[in-house]
Amino acid sequence: MEATQKKEILFILLKPALIEPTLKGWVSSTGFFFGDNKDSENMARYDVSTHRICECGLRMEKWYTLCDKCRDKKSNEAWKLKPKQKWDGIKCHIFQRFEL
Ligand SMILES: [Zn+2]
Repeated sequence: MEATQKKEILFILLKPALIEPTLKGWVSSTGFFFGDNKDSENMARYDVSTHRICECGLRMEKWYTLCDKCRDKKSNEAWKLKPKQKWDGIKCHIFQRFEL
C-alpha cells in the first residue's frame, strides 16, 4: 500500500460499535450518535468503514451495492435485454460509462 492511499477499514471486521448507556443508542468510533433503532448499530459501523463485501465475495467501496465485476455483469445483462433493431444508417446514440 502506498503512503498516499487511504487505509481500508472493512465493515465486517470492525468491532461492534459501542452502545452509550447514558444516551441509549449506538455511537460510532468517530463519535457520531445513531440512536437506538434496529439499524443504528449498522449505521454506526458504516460510518467508520471504507469497504464492504459484495454478495459475490469481492471487496467494494462502502457506498456501492455491488462490486465492479458484478456491476459490469449486471450492466451487460441489462444491455442484452434491450430491444434490438436494424440500424437505419442515420440515428446513432453512443453511451459510455465514465469512471471518475
Ligand atoms: Zn460482486
